[in-house]
Amino acid sequence: MERRHARYPFLDAAREAVEHADVDLLAIARDEERVVERATERVERALSDGTIGDPRRSTRVELLSYPLARVLVSLVDEHVLTRKYARAEASAAHDRIDAAADGAELKSTRDDRVTTTELLTEFDLARHVHAVDADAGGGEPGVGSRDASTGSQDAYRVDVGAYLSLAADMWGDEWRLVNRPLAEGQVPITHAELGDLLEKAIERRISDGLPLAVPESVGDALADAESQVRETLSELELTREIDTVVPDLFPPCMRALLDSVRKGEHLEHHSRFAITAFLTSIGMTTDEIVEFYSVNPGFGEEMTRYQTDHIRGETSPTEYSPPSCATMQSYGDCVNMDDRCETISHPMAYYEGALDDADDEEIADWRETEADA
Ligand code: SF4
Repeated sequence: MERRHARYPFLDAAREAVEHADVDLLAIARDEERVVERATERVERALSDGTIGDPRRSTRVELLSYPLARVLVSLVDEHVLTRKYARAEASAAHDRIDAAADGAELKSTRDDRVTTTELLTEFDLARHVHAVDADAGGGEPGVGSRDASTGSQDAYRVDVGAYLSLAADMWGDEWRLVNRPLAEGQVPITHAELGDLLEKAIERRISDGLPLAVPESVGDALADAESQVRETLSELELTREIDTVVPDLFPPCMRALLDSVRKGEHLEHHSRFAITAFLTSIGMTTDEIVEFYSVNPGFGEEMTRYQTDHIRGETSPTEYSPPSCATMQSYGDCVNMDDRCETISHPMAYYEGALDDADDEEIADWRETEADA
């Protein structure tokens, strides 16, 4: 097994190496304590500090702990965990690539490294990303420092279609196409920005296909590791109830429904139920929801109060949750899907992810801004 694969286990070549080695995941889960330990650490550190911990000296442990960590994430199957895990692995890869490029990693040999060109090829982007000058791309081994000061000059031009798909999940107005110069169908970006976009591509690759279908026997063998991760997850209260109202971060379906309510348009019962249950689930009280809807006098206060109390379980025996994406789709309430929608199966997961990705200053709770107004 190659050290390079252990360092960059998300590469296709690493996956193939594991496949060719005819690795029996069940045997590893049962018998290879060090691999299980390292896999558990990868997942737990992703939760606790957004890293994957220090790599092990053993290439075998390091490489095999990656597929096992994905299995562990699949067993727990909480979207917050999947997201944090994929992000931590991608961030570690980005750090490692930068460190190797800067010569900061003494033990890294030329063969261990992954260059920008290789990554672009790996993600089928080589045709779409063009180095502006020879110094920027070609022989440059790193993908771009996170320190913007080292990459402030435009070093690449990206075909607009590729740019849109890469930048879709990036947070911040600077990634929006309207804020970018566009020349001949290409978007200029800096070296550091290419690094960030490639990190996002790595993150997508890592979360791709999760959760995996895990055979029961493997699940049984990893039961202790699974409960350890579950415990960490609950200690960190990452599955906490969301109690923040930031309409700009709502999923597209809920933003569309909210617009309709505020315009005083007639909504079918299922649509009204969906938006009201969503608002209740993110911690809004009945009074707040009434106020939130009441931009237009035609919104129907009495009906809103009745329905909200009912959904909340105050006038009914059940506390209702908002519908899943599948249900929203079957009612025709799923509209304006964006890239985040591809990664989730529930509007609450969409919102939780959007909140998680937002910078603190971007999270202005509607209730506080209303109070200030
Ligand atoms: S995929 Fe889900 S979150 Fe996205 S718009 Fe459709 S229902 Fe809403």
